[in-house]
Amino acid sequence: ESQLNPNYTFENFLEGDSNRLARNAAIAVANKPGGTSFNPLLIFGGVGLGKTHLAHAIGVDIKDKYPEKTVLYISAEKFTQQYIDSVKKNNRNDFIHFYQIIDVLIIDDAQFFSGKSGTQDVFFHIFNHLHQNGKQVILTSDKAPVDMQDIEQRLLSRFKWGLSAELQSPDFETRVSILENKLYRDGVEMPDEIIEYVAKHIKTNVRELEGAIISLIAQSSFNKKEITLNLAKDIVEKFVKNTKREVSIDYIQKVVSDYFQMDVSTLQSKTRKRHIVQARQLAMFFAKKYTKASLASIGSQIGQRDHATVLHACKTVDNLSSTDKQFRKYVEDLAKKLTL
Ligand code: ADP
Ligand code: MG
Repeated sequence: ESQLNPNYTFENFLEGDSNRLARNAAIAVANKPGGTSFNPLLIFGGVGLGKTHLAHAIGVDIKDKYPEKTVLYISAEKFTQQYIDSVKKNNRNDFIHFYQIIDVLIIDDAQFFSGKSGTQDVFFHIFNHLHQNGKQVILTSDKAPVDMQDIEQRLLSRFKWGLSAELQSPDFETRVSILENKLYRDGVEMPDEIIEYVAKHIKTNVRELEGAIISLIAQSSFNKKEITLNLAKDIVEKFVKNTKREVSIDYIQKVVSDYFQMDVSTLQSKTRKRHIVQARQLAMFFAKKYTKASLASIGSQIGQRDHATVLHACKTVDNLSSTDKQFRKYVEDLAKKLTL
């Protein structure tokens, strides 16, 4: 069977600036599987931002519109396991054939292929066959193709053929809508003050956002507790403590630009004006410190610089903060704002 979760629909995937491109691309692909230039469609982003949900939604919608099409959702991990089994059982060709006759192939968490050259090889052949025959491939990954490690170049170049769309952390309004939608679907009412408190404090992971609201619903319906701000605070604290928060590079650029009262576009610009260069270097420094992004990816997101520029920025910030008191104050202020 297709392994699709019918609850993961487009309708239930609330739209916001953070996901608009990926969501619209997913809808376009679902309307015309194999018939758009988004082939493959690669959806990437951090943990709990909706990659799996969106991948399923494409499949669910296609099954609805084109019941005759075969749609298969599979995690890269399971795909790898199946492949290894097929080699053991001497039916690698059956395995390949099975995948080559699918109309829509959805592979979740493709970063799992990293370092697994046998699986990459077999996937490369399956991918080529599907693509040549106008079949749709959808991939998700925790990283952009440029940042994927230990994936063969020829496969990475295929990943870049179509569209790579990022899911970012949702902004406050989107977080509120996600919570309201969840409550509405569960038929539960909750004071705005509580919803806003949760949305304000859980910023970077929709799964945690939902987890906190589910806890609150459980407390009120099973333990008959009144939902107070204090109870919400306790629950949110539990959720936030259990997770290392990761800030996004966009967020860092926004905070740094605001701090120096300039636009993000100024921060990213090519100008050599000293205070702008410093702001840009600070943004790079914090991106290195607070995100898992590679130097190359940080550079490309902060005004199209290369990795050497980012490295230089990090060293400069280190040096200046030990020699220049005013500069150290900038670093401390910004660190506080970013980790709030
Ligand atoms: P990922 O695969 O990126 O780790 P998931 O797709 O598992 O994330 O999403 C985690 C949870 O958050 C799921 O329950 C999903 O339904 C929910 N979710 C994520 N983004 C949204 C959104 N924009 N609207 C509604 N629910 C969302
Ligand atoms: Mg997932």
